[in-house]
Amino acid sequence: MATIGYIGLGTMGLPMAGHLMAGGHDVRGYDVVAEAVEAHVAGGGTAAASPAEAADGADFIFTMLPNTPHIRSALFDDDGAAKTMRKDALYIDMSTINPIESDGIRADMGALGLSMVDAPVGRTSAAARAGKSLIMVGGDKADNERAYPLFELLGDTIVDCGGPGMGHRMKVVNNYMTTVMTVVTAEALTLSDAVGLNRDTSLEVMRGTPAGQGCMNTTYPDRVLNKDLTPNFMIDLANKDVGLALALADAVNVPLNTGAAARQIYAVARAQGRGREDWTAVYPVLQGLSGVDPIC
Ligand code: NAD
Repeated sequence: MATIGYIGLGTMGLPMAGHLMAGGHDVRGYDVVAEAVEAHVAGGGTAAASPAEAADGADFIFTMLPNTPHIRSALFDDDGAAKTMRKDALYIDMSTINPIESDGIRADMGALGLSMVDAPVGRTSAAARAGKSLIMVGGDKADNERAYPLFELLGDTIVDCGGPGMGHRMKVVNNYMTTVMTVVTAEALTLSDAVGLNRDTSLEVMRGTPAGQGCMNTTYPDRVLNKDLTPNFMIDLANKDVGLALALADAVNVPLNTGAAARQIYAVARAQGRGREDWTAVYPVLQGLSGVDPIC
């Protein structure tokens, strides 16, 4: 049984601390909001009066906090966790924060002789409550291995993202995809409403095509990810189709901002003479524009 200091008992942290307790660990919880600590105690946890008290003598210290300033305060203020943390304890940050700022926190902890794993969480708070989170782990191998038994109490998918800082980098990439897809989904459904389609019909159709099934599961694997750009569906036709959507949206006054931006990439691909390549060629086009070695 480990002693754990858990800092940040909000929507995510409170149920996660509960899962660690259910796994047999002693969890000392701290939050700036007294009611959050009371809820933790009501669930069988121990209250800490400060981050320093939560970390004092603990084997592991977790933070699950809104953003970098909250973490820096919890770690480095006068009553911060870094003041009392044992040198052989492990600090685990599960918050979603800027990876560059997280690198700075790791460096400052390292200067004090303290080890850190970044382990942000995919999926929603419902998954966190169910103990079925996806956890993106960024840390040294030995530190990760110490943390894995605890992660297994919190999630059903634990992914080693490849070293210190890579968990937070992965989280930002993942959330870029989901946050932008949330907008493009709203655009498609609004266009559907505006042209008089039945919403359930649109959902049925789009769930049956790459629109709803996702490019990573449908169009990418056997083409660009397989380094094959012979067209299943060519750039010229994709460019025509996004143009049709923009023209239709224009006729019914629906703004398609992500569609307008996407069209610029198809235009670049066509300007590079790639019009007859598979539409997934937009990936190496964008890699080239970004100074990244193209996949093919
Ligand atoms: P939340 O606001 O519900 O919880 C944050 C908790 O931190 C609050 O209880 C707050 O009082 C406490 N807090 C703030 N500053 C503090 C400090 N200095 N010391 C101690 N406690 C402090 O937020 P949440 O939804 O639990 O999210 C936490 C992190 O997890 C965020 O970085 C968020 O982006 C990420 N996340 C959230 C979800 C989600 O579905 N809610 C999913 C994945 C990741």
